[in-house]
Parts: sequence; structure tokens; C-alpha cells
Amino acid sequence: MPRGGKRGGGEPKPGEPIPDLLPDHPTLETVREAASTCKACDLYKRGTQTVFGEGPRKAALMLVGEQPGDAEDLAGQPFVGPAGRLLDRGLEEAGIDRGLVYVTNVVKHFKWEPRGKRRIHAKPNAAEISACRPWLETEIALVKPRVLVCLGATAAQALLGKSFKVSRQRGEFVASTMAPFVTATVHPSSILRAQGEDARRAEMARFIADLKKVAVQLAGSRRSGGGSS
Ligand code: SF4
Repeated sequence: MPRGGKRGGGEPKPGEPIPDLLPDHPTLETVREAASTCKACDLYKRGTQTVFGEGPRKAALMLVGEQPGDAEDLAGQPFVGPAGRLLDRGLEEAGIDRGLVYVTNVVKHFKWEPRGKRRIHAKPNAAEISACRPWLETEIALVKPRVLVCLGATAAQALLGKSFKVSRQRGEFVASTMAPFVTATVHPSSILRAQGEDARRAEMARFIADLKKVAVQLAGSRRSGGGSS
């Protein structure tokens, strides 16, 4: 089959499921290429492009958000907008090098609603999350992160189950087949939405505290010779 292309060649049809698009011997590069033509749900009509994950092939840490935002949709890269800059700051303050982290989302196209001239984030629904999931599962299988962190309720509930509550369980490590250490914290965009400077500062401090727990697990895995980038 063509490199990174659809089985049997040609453009995918609308609604064609992701497993039909996966290369026989997937690599991050060929899967990214295949995802760029995905039409498995209707979001391909709304977003500018598929925003696939980015980072080292064998990153020890994978961060999974909800979906690309406005800036990410235009750039074609995850976490490059205002929330991404906050994430950079949080990682730096927790002592984690973002260059060694694989960042991605549960949904790869930007879902938005028009408001005047602006494109406002709209939450992906269960069908869209489920349709897009094979891309994320393939990323996890290829990268094999030592630590996986869900950012926000959408990612946490998609990957850890509906009963997982980020508000109560953030920073807790839970048993999962996805990676040896799996946890969740808030999405950095929620810190941007906090009302008032004091609230934003407090939310940022809690976010950094959660990331510091992640840094401890990463340091432990390096000492025990676990996943590296
Ligand atoms: S959101 Fe995911 S499943 Fe839907 S078209 Fe985009 S890449 Fe495909």
C-alpha cells in the first residue's frame, strides 16, 4: 500500500473508519500522513487540517488534551496557542523539558462555532471522540510512554472512564493498560478561563503541583532504566 496512504489507495470516503486507513506497518510518520486525509467523522469539514500529535518517537511522557484550538488548527500543531504557552510554563516550572514530551489530543480536528468573526471552541461529542480514538490508540502503541497524563475532563473521561472526576482525582495515578503511570490534571485552557488574577495564580500553582508529581515518576523511571526519548 502507498506510504501512509489508505489501504488500496485513493482518498478516504466520508465516514470511512480509521482502521481502514492505518498503514500495515505503522510508524508515527506514516500514521500522521494517513490521519491527514481522515474523514471518519464530520469534523474534517470544519477544521482547517488534522492536527496530529508531536514529539519524540519514544517520549517517556505523553500529554493528551481534548482537541486542537484555533491557533493549533491554523498552525497544524498541538498546544501552540495561549493554552500551549501556559503548558510550556507549567512544564518548565515542574522541571520537565517539553522537548522530551509527546503532546496530542483525543480529537484531531478543531470543532468550533462561529461567533461574529471569531471561531469559538465547541466540545466534541461522544461519537466524534469514539471515531477519532484509533489515532490516539496508535500513537500510544507507537510511543509507549512511561507516563501518560490526560489534560482536562474530556481527555480524562475518554481514557479513564466516565466516573473519573478531574476535580476530585487530579494528580492521582490510576491503574491502566495504556502506560505504567497514568494520571489526569486540568486542561491549561481552564486556567486561562479562571476569573481574576488571584484565581488564575492559584490554579496555575495547582497545575504545577500536579506536573511535579509527574516529574517524580519520570525521574523514577529514568533511574530504573525505563522509557526515554
Ligand atoms: S476528528 Fe478525528 S475522526 Fe474526525 S475527521 Fe478528524 S481525524 Fe478523523
